[in-house]
Amino acid sequence: MNKKEIIALQKFLPQKNIVIVTHKNPDGDALGSSLALYGYLKKITPSVRVIVPNEFPHYFKWMPYADTILNFDTHKDEATQLLQQADLIFTLDFNHFSRVGADMQQVLETTSAVKVMIDHHLEPDNYAKFVYSDSNMSSTAQMIYHFIEMMDDLELIDEEIATNMYTGIMTDTGSFRYRSTTATTHRIIASLIERGANNTEIHQKIYDTNSYHRLQLLATALNQLVVFPDYRTAYLILDKKSLEKHHVKKGDYEGFVNYALSIESIVLAAIFVETPDENFVKISFRSKGTFSVNEFARMHFHGGGHTNAAGGKSFDTLEQTVKKFIASLDTYKKQLTDEN
Ligand code: 5GP
Ligand code: MN
Repeated sequence: MNKKEIIALQKFLPQKNIVIVTHKNPDGDALGSSLALYGYLKKITPSVRVIVPNEFPHYFKWMPYADTILNFDTHKDEATQLLQQADLIFTLDFNHFSRVGADMQQVLETTSAVKVMIDHHLEPDNYAKFVYSDSNMSSTAQMIYHFIEMMDDLELIDEEIATNMYTGIMTDTGSFRYRSTTATTHRIIASLIERGANNTEIHQKIYDTNSYHRLQLLATALNQLVVFPDYRTAYLILDKKSLEKHHVKKGDYEGFVNYALSIESIVLAAIFVETPDENFVKISFRSKGTFSVNEFARMHFHGGGHTNAAGGKSFDTLEQTVKKFIASLDTYKKQLTDEN
């Protein structure tokens, strides 16, 4: 976003009906960036609302302004009307309309609102008039900080905005350890703590709220861990039966894939989940170093994301999907074994 565009937005924002949307199955960054932007815009514009495509995990419900979020899935008419009446739609933490899911995508595509994209994923689509896309950024939440900085409004960041930004940055950086975490990220984090973000409390509310069922589900997944040392690959499977047995709630298997990646010398990790509420196998990929799971997910599993974290889906059975995954590894053997 250049200076001219920022000036245009500075003029434009105060008089407009604004809607903020983010991707399906919103994570900490999707919610943190949307709610931080909401907190900011609500100070400078009379009408702003956050719409998410579907339900989000219980351990994010405490976030400031989370109770104002409109769920498209359960409030289709109201959400559709808001989207159709909006003058300006911010699309956060995604860069392709398909990421909001088929139902909301249909509505989004027919809206006349000017679109603003703020996002850190690779290969953005070109639906937005205003684009702030940078795949080197740790998180969309960090980009909201930079956006507010460009708007010359840093002094408007209060405790609620800071808490939401902190949550987005923390969850998308694996608690400040991924390569995308820079000195600038830490400087921003410092300023968010100064503005009231309670780092200890935020971490506890998100990571120390496991249920008995979630840990049992993790045990089930780890019991079926498969490792291919020759391909430096490990994967986990969760079938429908296990998910039902452990009364899975949204977000319960979030982070499981990292256990597979944490094995020494493993470069590529995956988890295949036979989700009960979708008609496909949901896959998460993670990698270390230069092996791009964004490219891998795009090439084989209708997905994408970042170099070291990506997702995808498969409309085959769970068994066929895993077979396909294993068969695809041979092509990447050199890349995987060359990695440090
Ligand atoms: P997760 O595995 O946690 O669902 O997703 C990891 C990363 O990949 C996230 O940044 C997410 O936005 C992205 N991602 C997940 N699923 C998909 C997908 O189906 N398509 C694309 N393009 N990106 C995805
Ligand atoms: Mn993100």
